[in-house]
Amino acid sequence: TWSAVPAGPPDPILGVSEAFKADKDPRKINLGVGAYRDEHGKPYVLNSVKKAENIIASSNPDKEYLPITGLADFTKAAVKLAYGTDSAPLQANSVAVTQSISGTGALRIGGAFLGRFYPHSKTIYLPTPSWGNHTPIFRDSGLEVKTYRYFDKKTVGLDFAGLKEDLKNMPEKTIVLFHACAHNPTGVDPTPEQWKEISDIVKEKQLFPFFDMAYQGFASGDFARDAFAVRHFVSQGHQVVVSQSFAKNMGLYGERVGAFSLVTADPEEKARVESQLKIVVRPMYSNPPLSGARVAATILNHEGLYTEWENEVKHMANRIISMRHKLYDNLVAQGTPGEWGHIKSQIGMFSFTGLTTPQTKILAEKAHIYMTADGRISMAGLNGHNIDYFSENVSNVVKG
Ligand code: PMP
Repeated sequence: TWSAVPAGPPDPILGVSEAFKADKDPRKINLGVGAYRDEHGKPYVLNSVKKAENIIASSNPDKEYLPITGLADFTKAAVKLAYGTDSAPLQANSVAVTQSISGTGALRIGGAFLGRFYPHSKTIYLPTPSWGNHTPIFRDSGLEVKTYRYFDKKTVGLDFAGLKEDLKNMPEKTIVLFHACAHNPTGVDPTPEQWKEISDIVKEKQLFPFFDMAYQGFASGDFARDAFAVRHFVSQGHQVVVSQSFAKNMGLYGERVGAFSLVTADPEEKARVESQLKIVVRPMYSNPPLSGARVAATILNHEGLYTEWENEVKHMANRIISMRHKLYDNLVAQGTPGEWGHIKSQIGMFSFTGLTTPQTKILAEKAHIYMTADGRISMAGLNGHNIDYFSENVSNVVKG
């Protein structure tokens, strides 16, 4: 029956983890997958999460199904985190929201909803490059995927002129995806001033902004600062849609906690939109998982735990930033050819190092250092114990 099924290619990111696992050298480093690691290179479960789990366990909770759109205590708090408590559409009760299977699920629900109901276009524009899963998610949701310029290889920075030109040349009312902060894979974000210009063009062209917010808090350690783009667009009257993930900022990766939300015109429109979100979700997975949403809701709605969580996010963000500085200093001290300022100026979990695919291969084979073939590294995989070994090997491979 399945003799005509061709073998599919391995996932470019998860494939790196497999190669890492198979390597027995004690010096090996995995910089492929975007999951936070502590100072000892170990997965990190937040204290606020452990405390929330204890609170939940002691309340002896049941395991009943959640409603189709999820745990209301969670989704209400999630949109407050994204839009800000003083957000006009939140106060007007016009933000429709559903819990989702982390950020990926939120993007998928968003793609499916827009594919079914957005009246003006079935095309979504993604930045080049973008997270590798964006294209298949939106294609499988039934949208046509196109791209706009984003990254300038020459400056290892934002191609702002190209981005603006491409936005201006898009058909009116088409859907555009933006990374709200900590762009993956490049670590290059527009500045607040640039976001304001982008917002103006989006308004002029009546484009439809879809924000993927997978790293709120992880970029700067400050939730409001990382939500600047989303909140600015909303303040300018854009009816944004937002996908949120709590994988990184709460370290809830495998618990699959996320939310998809849309700004609508008023509470009546919101009710109609939510009724259709249910119809999108029900045949996909019926209703979302419970445990992680309970943990997130407990943290978000508990003053003491929220503050503790905020501090832990700051700690993670700051550790990553300190690794950026150390890596930069090492590369410069070792006389590594090239300009390395981007290591420090890039934002969030990832750095687009500028290493070439052949160089990444050499690093894997000779130094047991694993990263994606595009030269992207997860900064969180670096720590005080391995950063000197890493810098030295990068320096050597660049020197050739
Ligand atoms: N969007 C971006 C840009 C991401 O980097 C990720 C995670 N790698 C996601 C969405 C979704 O991740 P998850 O489904 O684990 O929340």
